[in-house]
Parts: sequence; C-alpha cells; structure tokens
Amino acid sequence: MTLQLSGTALELPCIGEGAMAPADIELMLAALRQALTRPRGKLAAPQEAEQITLAAERAVGQSICEAGIGLPQALDLYASLLSQQGVPTDHPGYLAYIGASPTPAAALMDGLLSASGMIGSGWLGGAGLIWAENQALRWLADLAGLPAAAMGCFVSGGTAGNFSALVAARHRYRERGGMGAGLLLVAEGAHSSIIVSARLLDLHVVIVASDDLGRLTATALAHTLSALQVEGRLDEVVAVVAVAGSTNAGHIDDLLGIGQIARQQGIWFHVDAAYGGAFLCVPGVREKFSGIELADSLIIDPHKGLFVPYDCCALLYAKPGAVTAAFTQDASYLEQINESRQCNPMHYAFHLSRRARGVPLWFSLAVHGSAAYRQTLERILELSACLRERITRHPRLQLIQASGLSVILFRREGWQARDYDAWAQGCLSDGIALVVSSSWQGETVMRICIMNTRLDQQRCDELLAGL
Ligand SMILES: *Cc1c(COP(=O)(O)O)cnc(C)c1O
Repeated sequence: MTLQLSGTALELPCIGEGAMAPADIELMLAALRQALTRPRGKLAAPQEAEQITLAAERAVGQSICEAGIGLPQALDLYASLLSQQGVPTDHPGYLAYIGASPTPAAALMDGLLSASGMIGSGWLGGAGLIWAENQALRWLADLAGLPAAAMGCFVSGGTAGNFSALVAARHRYRERGGMGAGLLLVAEGAHSSIIVSARLLDLHVVIVASDDLGRLTATALAHTLSALQVEGRLDEVVAVVAVAGSTNAGHIDDLLGIGQIARQQGIWFHVDAAYGGAFLCVPGVREKFSGIELADSLIIDPHKGLFVPYDCCALLYAKPGAVTAAFTQDASYLEQINESRQCNPMHYAFHLSRRARGVPLWFSLAVHGSAAYRQTLERILELSACLRERITRHPRLQLIQASGLSVILFRREGWQARDYDAWAQGCLSDGIALVVSSSWQGETVMRICIMNTRLDQQRCDELLAGL
C-alpha cells in the first residue's frame, strides 16, 4: 500500500467516505440551535436501559455497526431519543442536588473548543486557550482575594479539585519531613469527595465538632489542635478543610477564624467552595466568605454556579510554584514541557491530557461581563429568599435555617422519610420538579437548591400545593 499525501484544502472527511458532508454540518448546527432554544417543558424520569435499547433498535437497528448509520440517522437518534432521557440540570424545576445552567455562549464555545484540535496540558499545545483559562482563574482568584501569584488550573469537577488540592497538601507535609500517614481535619458535614480523597491518599480523617448550624468554627478547631498537641501529634496534621457553601445546607464555615489558626500553626488551609464560590460575586454576601483569602488551595465549580457546561472546576493555589513537583510526570517525551517556564496546567493537578475546559467560562464572562453574573446570582439569592418566606408563612412547613445561600432546608410537620419520598415522586411524575429529600441532624427533611432564575410563581405554587 502506498501512502498518498492529500493536497486538498478543505479536507473534511477524516474517517469514512463523506464522513462530514457540508449538509451534515448544517444538520449539526441546526440541532445545536434547537438544543439551545429548546422549551423547558415537562420533566420526566428516564426510562430503563432495556426500553432505551428497544426504542433505539426500532429506530436504527444497531447504532454501532460495520458500515455506520450515517450522520442524519445518528443525530436523529440523539435528538429524538437520547437527549430526552434524563432530567436536564438547567430546567426551572431542577431543584435537587445542585443544578447548572450554561449560558448559550458558554455552551457554544464548549463545542468550538472541541473543534479547535488543541490540548490544554501545556503551553506549547494550547497557549492561547490556556491564556484564556488563566484570565478566568485570575478573575476568580481576585474575587477570593488570593495573592497576585495565585494560579492553578481547571479540572473535571470538585471531586478532582479537592483530591488534587489534598495531594498538594500532603506533598508539602512530606517535604517538611512528615513520615506518618498524616491527619486531615474536617467537619462532620465535609463533602463526600473530601472523605473519598482522604481514603485514596490514606490520610486519617479527624472530625472536628461543628456548631448548631453545622459550621466548623475556630473554637472547635483550636480544641482539636490542642488535643492533638497533648497526644504529641500536632506535626502529623496535613491540612484543615473548610467549606464555603456546603452542598447539603449552603452554610459557610468560619473561614477567617480557621484560616488564621491554620496560618499561625503552619497548617495547609483548603477551602471547598465548589458550590458557594460563585456567590463571591455578590457584594451582599461577600462578607460571609471573609477569610477565604487565607486559603492555600481553593476550589470553585463553575459548572454549578457560573453558568458553564459540565465539567469544570477551578483549582487555585496561593503558591502554585510549590505544588508542581507533586504532579509533574516524568517521561522522556515530556522533558521539554517539564523544563519550560511557561504555564503548564498539567503540573497543577492529577491529570495529563486535558481539554481547556475553562475556556467557556472565560468566553461567557467576556461576552456578558461580570455585572451580568453578579445580577443573575443576586436574583438566584432573591428567589431563594422568596421561597424561604413562603415556607415560613406556610401553616404546615418549618424552615430549618434562615440562610444557606440558595439551599433551602425545611420540614413538613408530621412527615416521615416515606412521605417526603412520595411527595418527591409525585412532583416528578406530574412533571413539576425534581426534588430529593436529605437529612439534617439525623432527621429526614426536604432540600431544595435553586441554581437558575427560571423558577416562577406558578411552579412554586404547584410545588407547595402538594405539601
Ligand atoms: C459539588 C461539590 C463537590 C464535588 O464536585 P463535583 O464537581 O460534583 O465533583 C465538592 N464539594 C462541594 C461543597 C460540592 O458542592
């Protein structure tokens, strides 16, 4: 077989004959337009895998086969079946977990990014994209008040961000001669990803008592530290983790008090602001985050509150130069990148190949401006306050806490776990909302989290009517 070099300028098909005809590109663009402007209709629970298989086979037979089914068929299968199965996180009724509502600008840039053919691991491969990502990281670092030298990279999510931050903390512990497994100080309500990271790193978790509102306080931390001192184990502490916007209740730990103690004691201070970090843009609540500027490492999930598509977490370090040794992979073919003095995101987290997933955030911010972000997040907090007020006025409902960013916890008098679940199931089968119960201090309660501005009066009425 001889190798032929192609000389055509517009060489779209890369696989198969006519793999991407101009007409197919138009079809894709039309589908994209439709997806962006789709009406947010009724919500529905997804079907079982077997049912999806049957429907797909009815439509196209085996979708993966020797000859391929061609773009129009595959796209039709995606648009009419696959993209309809599941509950979109940007729906006004998506009130469970933590929703996400990408701006069309961010969503479209995400597609454009994939078409760029660039890799975001190192400067050589994706300098312009990394520059854009770093602009967005700088914006976040400034909101948090981190030092001018703070930098990091975007990773796939808060779980990956927390894990990498703790890898960096443990690296410093080892550099300072820490020999034992190391202790990780966390509050009882720390996010599950912190606990799993500790497990993966074989760190011993030390639970620090929280206050009545579930917050980690400086007093409790000081108490734990003095107990450790008595045991002669103070130098085994690898890091203390605080949350700025807990997933379950939206609370913010005493970041200032904890940060100050961590500074005094030379303990790595990690702040998990995966959910809450977006609200740093809102001047009215910024004060609650006071002390976040003391963080050695910080994560914020733009895919939660900064209106970009999954998957996107900003991971920032106060002293980025000190962490690269923890992540640098040694391979002969990487030497050139490892020795370069440019910004190489691969050196800031546990990853190598990576898409420049922060670009959609940069783009959306550049397009809309930070004021639009501030106003939208303010509006989300207003909507949350309105719902809290309605719950307070409701004869059978009790609000569990007065604040909590856009997370609302409440109880329905006399209800047990199964009653909440039945109500939640009813909400989904009626197409009103996706809600799931949670627990608060051992009691099953209802949890709602608002993450877009589409929730209106009517849906609220429908939601509350069943209570
Ligand atoms: C969502 C969340 C995480 C995990 O983030 P993923 O992006 O889902 O991996 C970690 N911490 C907090 C506080 C979160 O809300």
